[in-house]
Amino acid sequence: MNLLVTGAAGFIGSAYVRALLARRSADAPHVTVLDKLTYAGSRDNLPADHPRLTFVRGDIRDAALVDKLMAEAGQVVHFAAESHVDRSITGAGDFVLTNVVGTQVLLDAALRHGVGPFVHISTDEVYGSLATGSAREDDPLRPSSPYSASKASADLLALSYHRTHGLDVRVTRCSNNYGPRQFPEKVIPRFVTRLLDGHPVPLYGDGRHVRDWLHVDDHCHGVELVRTRGRSGETYNIGGGTELSNKELTALLLDACGAGWDRVEHVEDRKGHDLRYSVDWTKARTELGYRPRRDFTTGLAETVAWYRENRAWWEPLTRRAGEEAGG
Ligand code: NAD
Repeated sequence: MNLLVTGAAGFIGSAYVRALLARRSADAPHVTVLDKLTYAGSRDNLPADHPRLTFVRGDIRDAALVDKLMAEAGQVVHFAAESHVDRSITGAGDFVLTNVVGTQVLLDAALRHGVGPFVHISTDEVYGSLATGSAREDDPLRPSSPYSASKASADLLALSYHRTHGLDVRVTRCSNNYGPRQFPEKVIPRFVTRLLDGHPVPLYGDGRHVRDWLHVDDHCHGVELVRTRGRSGETYNIGGGTELSNKELTALLLDACGAGWDRVEHVEDRKGHDLRYSVDWTKARTELGYRPRRDFTTGLAETVAWYRENRAWWEPLTRRAGEEAGG
């Protein structure tokens, strides 16, 4: 079976593909990766050469290319997206083009060639901010940022292809991922790389915003369960089970990097910053046997150690980001 995976030069997609390629079983799929290699994608996140990997550099909006790849594919896992909320606040255009239009191009091609399951990777952010409790899959979508609005649009579009055309679409909505190879614009790698370099870290507002943390390997395991055992037309929440305020997370990261609170700069809050996300993942647990396996304390220590030991991976990225910002 040839599995088309979009966006797999990025953080989560590359972890998913590396796990698939590590499999030795006879049913391990051939993987075709389609990735544009935007600022967030690194070809180095995947093996340079592997008998079961084909890497194609291209845009998910390129209908002719997508049609050709879909004709050769049996199933799809769709990670490709513009993924950083702050960037969507300064410019929403690429978020609509990639996350919404790109998803539609993929869905149309999947429909033409009868490809399924089509697993669409989404986010807990589509449910919006929750003061208490946890969102279930059939709760209303109340996205706040242009990023989460573009993801919610893509979810609805994907599910519409199931309802209208009967395409085998499955949607996953996960909480905040952490782990190695996350682009150093997201809070954990940003804070760790800055602390390791002796720089201050910017904490938004009063730091009371709460996120649920999910190790990227647990997320990938959940996605694989949805691909192999999930039901057509269904949405599955994939949670991590470790809720922390940004202030609590900052304390853990300072401690892991041997730094004190004098390194924290309180900066103006993000516009429209959602206070808390939380998903109820009972459905994935009861239907698919999903549960997060990675303990957060160990996972975080391993992640910090990875950034400590892999400066060659992130230094060019932070340098380039600094240059782009005129720094
Ligand atoms: P990422 O930014 O690290 O990677 C995105 C990848 O998509 C990159 O390799 C990039 O080159 C590629 N890409 C972007 N636009 C493209 C286009 N037009 N055509 C082809 N490729 C393109 O993102 P990530 O953190 O790995 O997130 C993967 C998915 O998971 C996204 O759909 C995101 O919305 C979702 N998600 C992420 C998190 C998280 O905590 N990181 C949480 C919830 C959901």
